[in-house]
Amino acid sequence: MPEGHTIHRLAARIQRLFVGQDWRVSSPQGPFTAGAARLNGRSPRRAEAWGKHLLVHLGAEIWHVHLGLYGSFGFRGDDTFVTADQLGQLRPVSRVREPAYDDTGWILPEAPQGAVRARIQVPHGWGDLRGPVKCRVLNSMQYETLVGRLGPDPLRQPTGEINPEMLMRFRNNLARRRSSIAAALMDQSVIAGVGNVYRAEALFVEGIAPDTPAAQLDPEQATTLWSTVTIQLRTGVREGVIRTLRPADPDHGLRGADLHRKWPAGGTGTEAARHHWVYRQQHTPCLRCGQTILMRQLQGRRLYWCPGCQTR
Ligand SMILES: [Zn+2]
Repeated sequence: MPEGHTIHRLAARIQRLFVGQDWRVSSPQGPFTAGAARLNGRSPRRAEAWGKHLLVHLGAEIWHVHLGLYGSFGFRGDDTFVTADQLGQLRPVSRVREPAYDDTGWILPEAPQGAVRARIQVPHGWGDLRGPVKCRVLNSMQYETLVGRLGPDPLRQPTGEINPEMLMRFRNNLARRRSSIAAALMDQSVIAGVGNVYRAEALFVEGIAPDTPAAQLDPEQATTLWSTVTIQLRTGVREGVIRTLRPADPDHGLRGADLHRKWPAGGTGTEAARHHWVYRQQHTPCLRCGQTILMRQLQGRRLYWCPGCQTR
């Protein structure tokens, strides 16, 4: 499932490529036809992410998208469109090699492939949304209700800062939960944007046992957990992938020689591509302590952890 970093990148991309221009919105697959008609021909004013929710504002109406487990956006456009997508350098939007334009100067989009729930278009390119769990138009009150239910999103803190108010909300949310910390981190009303990968990796880095009751974390643990999740999510936004295992970090817990053996420079094997401490590493020895990493189901999702390192 896309985690918060993906949605924040997506919102930034829509902000760059669509906001401030008149756009055309349609629902080639059908179910969003009425909603698309409300958005069509207008000009989006702002795109934002709140946890895993994408919200595009058009005055009093807000387009709300939640990708769920399988949803995705695909973007295509001409050179102007690709150039405007500067932040997307790692995975730039797809370039149309020989674009054609209609009489009004708008690029002629290709026929939708597969089940496209919504297509958004501006003169130089378009985006296709497939497979979301939510794609609807909200009014201001519905928007307030939605975001009011969400916990603090670490990626909504000013860059490079920890917002004390948001941290306090996170700590209070944990203190009120009866569930384990592993369950609480996946609860979007406790903290918004964390998914299965960040849950596993942040708890590992902090050495917190997944079954620890959320309410039993002391203030210091909750504070460092918030900082770690913040750092991991910000790195995810910057890099476009979740890479929580950072061999270059001085505090990765491995000596240089071990490091070289496990991640040969420029290696192309699977070891070189390993990005996670515990996520999907079950049955393998922990890189810090050597104990076998475990996996089990928790509320329908896989939970990964190291019993040797995560003891607090
Ligand atoms: Zn370990």
